Amino acid sequence: MLNKTKVVVTIGPSTMEKEQIKRLMLGGMDVARLNMSHSNYSFCTDIIEKINELNEELHLSIAIMLDLEGPEVRTGKFLNGQAYFRQGDKIRIYMDEVIGDSTKFSVNYSNLIKEVTHNSIIKVKDGMMSFEVIDIKNDCIICEVLTDGVIENHQTVKVEGVKLKLPKMSTKDETDVVFAHKLNVDFIALSYVCSQEDVLAVSDILIRLKNDHIGLISKIETEEAVNNLDEIVRVSDGIMVARGDLGVDIPIERVPGVQKKIIDKCHKAGIISIVATELLSSMERTNRPTRAEVSDVANAVLDGADAVMLSNETTIGKYPIETLTMMEKIINSAEKDIDYIEFIKNKEDRENNITGMISHSVVECASKLDCCAIIAPTMSGYTARMMSNCRPSCPIIAVSPSEATVKSLQLHFAVNPVLIDEIKDFDKIIEVSKKVTFELISTQPGDRIIITGGYPFNEVKSTNFMKIEEL
Ligand code: PGA
Ligand code: MN
Repeated sequence: MLNKTKVVVTIGPSTMEKEQIKRLMLGGMDVARLNMSHSNYSFCTDIIEKINELNEELHLSIAIMLDLEGPEVRTGKFLNGQAYFRQGDKIRIYMDEVIGDSTKFSVNYSNLIKEVTHNSIIKVKDGMMSFEVIDIKNDCIICEVLTDGVIENHQTVKVEGVKLKLPKMSTKDETDVVFAHKLNVDFIALSYVCSQEDVLAVSDILIRLKNDHIGLISKIETEEAVNNLDEIVRVSDGIMVARGDLGVDIPIERVPGVQKKIIDKCHKAGIISIVATELLSSMERTNRPTRAEVSDVANAVLDGADAVMLSNETTIGKYPIETLTMMEKIINSAEKDIDYIEFIKNKEDRENNITGMISHSVVECASKLDCCAIIAPTMSGYTARMMSNCRPSCPIIAVSPSEATVKSLQLHFAVNPVLIDEIKDFDKIIEVSKKVTFELISTQPGDRIIITGGYPFNEVKSTNFMKIEEL
C-alpha cells in the first residue's frame, strides 16, 4: 500500500522492542515520534539506535521527530503510578514533591499556588479531570473533586481561563534541542508555541549549533497560537494540530473548524500539516475503532492534511500494530475519494515562476494521463515539495543522494523519498527512475511515469524539465 498521507507513530512502552519497531516500519510508519514529556535520554538513544539499524537492514529512511515538553505544568508521581479521585472529595495539591494518592498529589510548578484564586478550576489530563479551588494554604491548594476518575503520573495541569506565567523556554527544552542535534533527528516538534518568537528561539539554538536540516513543527494547542497562526506559519516547516491540549484551551466544539482552517493555511503557505491526538483512541483498549474514529481519520485525509499521528494508541495501547494497519486502510480508502483533478484546477495561487508552472503541469498531466508515479530527482527536496503541494493523484518518488533531504521529505503528502547514489547525467537518471519505480510499485507494460527536476543537477536552482516515459 503506497499511501500518500503520512503517518507519525509515537514510540512508547508498547512499541519499544526492536521487533515491534520493525513491524511499524514495514507497516507504514513514516516518522517515529519521541515525546520528551514521557521519555528520558537513554530511552530515546535506544529507540533511535534501533531505528537506524533497521533503516540499514530494510533499506528504509524512516525519520525521527523529537517532541519537546514545552513549558508545561504536570502532576508528580503517584503510589503505584496512579490514583482514583472521587467526586465531592476534598484533596490537596502540593507545590513540593509528594507521592500522590486519592487524597493528594504534587505539581512541578511552585508558582501555581500564587496564580490560582478561590473557585479557579484546575484541569488535569487534557481536561478529563476537574478540581475546584476551595482554599489556599501556605504549601498546598485545597480542592474539591468535580469529576470521578483516575490520574496517572506526569499528567498535564491547566487552570481554566488563566494563562500561567511559565518561562517561555525551559532549560529542559534547551537541553533537549541540543540532544536532538547530537542524535541527528530530522524534526523537532515545539509544544505550546504561542508566537513566532517561540519558534525563532529554537531556530537560534540550531543556527548556533550549525544545524541546517532539522525541520521545525509548531504545535498549535492554545487559543493564542490560533490567533497568531499566520506569523507562526511563516517561520515553521510544519504545523501540528495538537487537538489534545487545544481541546482544553479552546471550547472542544471549535476544534474541527480550527483543524480545517490550519490545514488550509499550511497548504497555501506550502508547509506541512499534521493532525494529531485521539484519531483511533478506542484502539488503545480494543482491536476495532468506532465509526466516528474512522470518520475522523478519513476527514483529516479529505481536509488535505499531509500527515496523521498516533499517540497513546501506540505508546501505551494494547494494539499498536493493529492500530497502524487500520489507519493505513482508512487512509487508503479515503484517498480514493479525493478529487485530484478538481483540486489542481482550483489551485489559483500557483506561483508564476518556472518551478511553479512545471509543478502544476506535471501534476495535472499525471492525473489526466493516469500516470503511475512522478519521479523527482532532488538535492534539496525543493522539486518534491513543490509537486507535493499540488496534491498529485499518484505517488511522487523523490530520489536523492542526500540522507538529510530524504528524511526531511517523510512528512510531505505523496512523497516517497528514496536514497540513491549521486547521478550526474540525464540518461542515467531515467534509468534509475524506472528501476526505483519497479521496486516500489507494481506496474504494467505501457504504464507512464513523469520524471521532473532541475538539470544540470546541482547547478540550477529551479525545476526546469518534465519527461514522460512509457514503461
Ligand atoms: P502531546 O501533544 O501529545 O505532546 O500532548 C499533542 C496534543 O496536545 O494533542
Ligand atoms: Mn500537547
